[in-house]
Amino acid sequence: MTMKRDGHSHSHFCMHASDVEVEAYIARAIELGFEMYTVSEHLPYPDEFLNSLAYPQDILDSLKIRDDDYDSYIREMQRLKNKYKDRIQLLIGAEVDYIDEYLPYTRYLLKEYGPYFDDSLLSVHFIRGRRGWRAVDQDPDDFEDGLLRYYASYEKVQLAYYRTVKEALKADLGIYKPKRISHLSLCNKFQCRFNPDRRVGDEVKAAVMNILEYIRKKGYSLDVNAAGLFKEYCQEIYPAPWIIQAARGMGIPMVYGSDAHDAKHVGRGYEVYELLVEK
Ligand SMILES: [Zn+2]
Ligand SMILES: [Zn+2]
Repeated sequence: MTMKRDGHSHSHFCMHASDVEVEAYIARAIELGFEMYTVSEHLPYPDEFLNSLAYPQDILDSLKIRDDDYDSYIREMQRLKNKYKDRIQLLIGAEVDYIDEYLPYTRYLLKEYGPYFDDSLLSVHFIRGRRGWRAVDQDPDDFEDGLLRYYASYEKVQLAYYRTVKEALKADLGIYKPKRISHLSLCNKFQCRFNPDRRVGDEVKAAVMNILEYIRKKGYSLDVNAAGLFKEYCQEIYPAPWIIQAARGMGIPMVYGSDAHDAKHVGRGYEVYELLVEK
């Protein structure tokens, strides 16, 4: 029996999460019998990056940390880690975005905050598209406008996404570089609309296998992220089950992640993870 663990979650310090205090998430994790729980708040994006995005102000604001104050997040987590130490092993961490233009900034933040992290994740949410950087997970219309039109096919968007993930894996982010890769197939978030039969082309398959091989070689691990199961247009765990199966065959370590942005989402989809990874 492996330890019951949720390795990816957020808090009220993130502006696109609910206002529910992070302590309520932790209470929920304890209630559900989790023994280990990571709060992996988004490491702040550079202002210059946010200002460059072709998104309306409300979306830009939602990508920020409350009051631009990451130190408060760390301090609150240290307090809670100590308060709950007899009931759950809390890990303080971050979800770190890879954006090639801002590597020096990311390296700097990791150097600054890395010493406080017990656990963290490496993510790709943004890839190049029409009018600059575009999120792959914003909404279906945005995906169509910013990425499908730019790359001309769903398969080409997938390939661009996996190319960026491979770059992220190879990037020099210093000694605090995260070793677990978040939601590897996040580029499928809107598959029900743009790829309803979930076709996986040979090139995409090869790109993913190449990534898995690299992960195995480097001793990295995968976040098995339940959020996709509950997204209207995804209806699937990240990474997709065929990727999980391949990763299992290669002995790549996998950690369940709820990616909770609200206390009520802690632990959800854990049974799907168990079925795919543990049984
Ligand atoms: Zn988030
Ligand atoms: Zn994420």
